[in-house]
Amino acid sequence: MQGKQIRLMTIGHGPRKVLFIGGIHGDEPEGVVTTAELPGAFEAAGLADRVTLSILEDANPDGRAARTRGNANGIDVNRNFPASNFDGADPSNGGKALSEPESRAVYHTVDRLKPDLILVAHSWTGRQFINFDGPSREIAERFSASSGLRVEESNSFAPTPGSLGSCFGRDRGIPVLTIEVLKGSDPAAVWEQLRDALLQSISG
Ligand SMILES: [Zn+2]
Repeated sequence: MQGKQIRLMTIGHGPRKVLFIGGIHGDEPEGVVTTAELPGAFEAAGLADRVTLSILEDANPDGRAARTRGNANGIDVNRNFPASNFDGADPSNGGKALSEPESRAVYHTVDRLKPDLILVAHSWTGRQFINFDGPSREIAERFSASSGLRVEESNSFAPTPGSLGSCFGRDRGIPVLTIEVLKGSDPAAVWEQLRDALLQSISG
């Protein structure tokens, strides 16, 4: 870590608990406007009595500042979680699960909040889709209908050992939606595209 904080904001006080993570790969900043606009839209939609929404602004602020996928140690934070499929043989995964301060921060946040749903913003070169782990096919399909992002199963697009989705979705049964918008998209347009789908899945 280079001393940049990982910031967590909590709004609303309802029984449904949702965690939104604004980014975990530093070179995928397309969700930045979405992350900034979400609190206001959440309040405006009147969801505060229904949902407690925690927003982890950016799980990899050093990578974001340096525009690198990994953190300051060159580790892919989204391969460093203690999932049953963790791959310690690839040094870019960190060698040992939770070796990185960023993955530890996310891990302990999820452990403490025990969310009913986790949403994570990413981007992908050449196409956009919504990926899900854990018991979240239906919620992914609703998200797809509202946003236009096609649903893709985990592992159908890339192996993701030690990912947040593998750890919390597949291993622990927490619904995880991984939102992959088109890399290089205008962040303001991404928010317009995702707003209704996000509010709907947050609302439950
Ligand atoms: Zn990503």
